[in-house]
Order: sequence, then structure tokens, then C-alpha cells
Amino acid sequence: MNQTLTLPPVAQSFYIFCKKCDIDRYHRVLAHTTETSAKIECEVCNGRKTYNLPKAGAAARKAKSDVGRAAVRKTAHTGEYEVRNKNKMSTEATPFSVRTKYVENQKIMHPKFGLGFVQKVYNEKIDVIFSDEVKSLVHNRQ
Ligand SMILES: [Zn+2]
Repeated sequence: MNQTLTLPPVAQSFYIFCKKCDIDRYHRVLAHTTETSAKIECEVCNGRKTYNLPKAGAAARKAKSDVGRAAVRKTAHTGEYEVRNKNKMSTEATPFSVRTKYVENQKIMHPKFGLGFVQKVYNEKIDVIFSDEVKSLVHNRQ
């Protein structure tokens, strides 16, 4: 990762892949177009192209922002859990059992997943928000 992030000087040749030749070729630098890109010409096929400096920094930033998005998703979910947790502080959590019929927003205590809040109720299933994820659980089983 110790690349020098400067363009080769104009009129100098450097070895890089040529799409036309489909192999690495020497390319002559014709002109610098920006600080990070140059017009270059293949010495064999004379194909001209724009050479861009590898953006090591940009790749690192992208990886970082992907992590950031995952964290945001996680935070959004945890946020809902925490808001519900706060709002329901006063009510007792009902121990979870598949035989019990639950209602929306009910606070439950699951033996394995811990404290959760009923988000959505179906006939035989409920979606429950736990601290790290939403789970679908069976309920109302007679
Ligand atoms: Zn070429």
C-alpha cells in the first residue's frame, strides 16, 4: 500500500495492461489531463486511453462507508428496541410460552433471546423485536 500517488512524467513510458492488445504493454504518456489522470498511448497498437491513478484512499473510504451503513441499520433497529424498552419500563415482561396468545406491543421475556417486544401479531406467529434482531415466534398454540 506504499504507492506513490503521482503520474508518470509526460513522454515517459510505463508498463500497464492494454485492452486492445489484451496484454501488458508499454504506454507513452501523452499529457496529464488532471492531477490523477493522463492520456496515454499504447506503443504497440497506438490505442489511446485515459490512465487513472489507483485510488487507494478511495477504496479504503468505500470499505469504511460499507461498514458505516451496516452500523446505521443496526442502530436503527437497536433504536426501536430501546425506545420500546424505555416506554414499557413500567410493565412487567410476560414469560414467553407458545401456548400464550400475545398482543401487539406486549413485553415478553424469552428464555433464550431475552427481553423482547411484540411488533406484529399473526394467527399462530408473532414478530418480536429482541435486542439484536427481530424474530418470528410461534404463539397461541392450543
Ligand atoms: Zn495496445
